[in-house]
Amino acid sequence: MTQGPDPTPIERWLARALGDDAPRHFGTGWISGVLAVFLGATALGAVIVLHFPDWLTSAELRARYPLPLVRTLIGLVIGFAFLASCLNLLLRRRKALGLAGLALTLAAVILGGTEVEIRGDFTRPYHFGLDWFLLNLLVFALVFVPLERAFPLHPGQRTLRAGWTTDLAYFFVSHVGIQLLAFLSLWPAAALTPWLGLGQVATRIASQPVWLQVLELMLLTDLVQYWVHRAFHRLPRLWRFHAIHHSSREMDWLAGSRLHLVDVVVTRALVVVPAFVLGFAEPALYAWLIVIALHAVFNHVNLRFRLRFLEHWLVTPRFHHWHHAVTPPDRNFAVHFPWLDRLFGTHYLPEGRWPEELGIRGHPVPDGFGAQFVYPLRRG
Ligand SMILES: [Zn+2]
Ligand SMILES: [Zn+2]
Repeated sequence: MTQGPDPTPIERWLARALGDDAPRHFGTGWISGVLAVFLGATALGAVIVLHFPDWLTSAELRARYPLPLVRTLIGLVIGFAFLASCLNLLLRRRKALGLAGLALTLAAVILGGTEVEIRGDFTRPYHFGLDWFLLNLLVFALVFVPLERAFPLHPGQRTLRAGWTTDLAYFFVSHVGIQLLAFLSLWPAAALTPWLGLGQVATRIASQPVWLQVLELMLLTDLVQYWVHRAFHRLPRLWRFHAIHHSSREMDWLAGSRLHLVDVVVTRALVVVPAFVLGFAEPALYAWLIVIALHAVFNHVNLRFRLRFLEHWLVTPRFHHWHHAVTPPDRNFAVHFPWLDRLFGTHYLPEGRWPEELGIRGHPVPDGFGAQFVYPLRRG
């Protein structure tokens, strides 16, 4: 690996605020400190969601929540945040993380903890997916961070690597803004569906077994995605938007979130047209959405597993890391099926090797969410 990117201003400020250059390995109180802040902030966020469920939960999810289980989960997060804070305070000389974790946890408890009564105007048409953000962040972080520590592809890469705050901002915006993004991505498909009138065909498609519909959806959408993705690489105007995704120089489970909003909306809008026009059943569409989200995270992980038995048929991290390689550029466009690249002549997967350097030659894209948002809109 070459030298990583410079830290963003927020990361520099965090490092200064913590003022702590003591070792960070297991047993030094660093891990418990980071965990304390992470769990404390998650707990506080969850309690705020309980206070304003009509504003801060997505309508599709709120109808499906088993509330007793959600309350138990919040209780567990509060408990572990408290334990992690205490551990940090005991183990580390600089106690900023432990104190911050403790303050966040106490705020969550004082604001009602798991006991907050659910009230709100649920007829409200607009909402933010703070619940979706917290839930996904918690699950993905708890699954992938320990795995990436235990089996790293790049052992020198830190969990809080340079650029993590940028990627977290993308993760936040894409989850909290789920309603707006879904609306923007779905309206072309919604507008086209009645015009095409595939009534009979649609009924037949929707009556197939769900697993078969999911497989068909993956095939169909990956085919569309392949060409849209290739266009984003080929056409200079589009490349400036997609370059944001390729600006990551260190990859992990969070790096895949780095996508310019124009890239997200255009790609999704074009990809979902066949999915909706052909009339796939709702359970299949939901299952496919889960598959696509998990596969996108999985493709970017910092894990050294090669998964040789899968490589031929399914996109693996090694295949997608080559998509992010500085050289050769413009390879491996598929997100599910690598044989699409073999079919169209863009496949690149040298036996047993991983790319040396990730990103774009010369690394032209600035760091930070705001700077990256305006980057493609600037002239020249
Ligand atoms: Zn790409
Ligand atoms: Zn990627």
